[in-house]
Amino acid sequence: MVDTATDGCAMQAPLGRDVEDLAYSLFAPLIEGRPDSARWEVVSWDAEQGLCLTLRHDDSILLFELERLDPEQEAWARTSRFNVHVRRVLSAQSELSPMERRLAQQVVKVIARREGALPRVTRQATSRRAELRELQVSRVLIPEGAGQYYINPYVGCMIGCDFCYVADRADFSRELVGLPSMPWGSYVDVKVNAAEILAQEVRRFPPGPVRFSPILTDPYQGPERRYRITRQCLEVLLPAGFSPVILTRAARVMEDAELLARFEHAAVGVSIPSDDDRMRAIFEPGGDPIDERFAALEALRRAGLSTFAVIQPLLPMDPAALAARLAPLVRAVRVDRMHFIHRVRQLYVDHGLEEAMTDAFFERTERALLEPLRAAGVGVDGFDLLREVLS
Ligand code: SF4
Repeated sequence: MVDTATDGCAMQAPLGRDVEDLAYSLFAPLIEGRPDSARWEVVSWDAEQGLCLTLRHDDSILLFELERLDPEQEAWARTSRFNVHVRRVLSAQSELSPMERRLAQQVVKVIARREGALPRVTRQATSRRAELRELQVSRVLIPEGAGQYYINPYVGCMIGCDFCYVADRADFSRELVGLPSMPWGSYVDVKVNAAEILAQEVRRFPPGPVRFSPILTDPYQGPERRYRITRQCLEVLLPAGFSPVILTRAARVMEDAELLARFEHAAVGVSIPSDDDRMRAIFEPGGDPIDERFAALEALRRAGLSTFAVIQPLLPMDPAALAARLAPLVRAVRVDRMHFIHRVRQLYVDHGLEEAMTDAFFERTERALLEPLRAAGVGVDGFDLLREVLS
């Protein structure tokens, strides 16, 4: 197993300025009041991967994501400091309705009106030194709407995949409070009091599915060996009736198989972007070898867990061979392409893999992978993987 051990990383006390305070002050009129008093409510807000706000009305859930202003990048709207993205979540329908567009415009106006009051903090000099910070946090369980949640036990990821599209957003959150720019994969914030805070939160929130971790961090990356924040959070969720849904690239997840199997509903997914470990070594050099991920899936399955696989980003592979290995081990598979390909274009070029950047490659390989999986009874069609694996 590849181990991204944290020994030797610099330890720092948390900085006084808190990006959460900053996000709260930006969204305050929306959090404390309502953007449209007749209909919409704030589900949650977050500040670890850019600034995010989730609003809900009946079954319509809108996620607002604020990135660093960049006129070169697509955005739903722009203010003087942010690119604003707006999208429907937990829905098969992606297009915004006229009502949702009106709401989104109102929210953008609030942001534009208040962003001038945000502090402009001078950023510390760029650092190339690995850093592990132990942080005290005030929130852990983040509602997503529709009765489900997510938890990021850590911020940052020592696996450090070059294609990880959250890297820029996480860096923007650091910039907002003056933290230095650091290479993705060289820093992690450890939420050392997460279980304590979560124990309070589970008394206030109704039980539901909890995703560990949608993006931003891997719940079983190297620091988990030492800190066990993910395990501690699971131990809090178990008696409270919540249902964890884990997604990881790390084989260490099998160390918690017994604990996970004690939940009435739990599901564990392993990201396996190819059957070819040479591809893994090129695109995910900090991730565990493919065989170790399969060994983890087997152990999880033996423990009686509901398992799934995420083939993302889909890399060069033998699709029939990968399907044959996965079919006996998983209930469902989700496939997605490489996004933000500019981040890793050079890797494709350096290894003569240019064709694997094309739509034709993705469509052909996805089809060749999904057909045998579907024939073997593996769920491949639902947009809502989470409900499927927990049912
Ligand atoms: S393991 Fe996941 S969170 Fe970590 S760097 Fe890779 S893609 Fe990003």
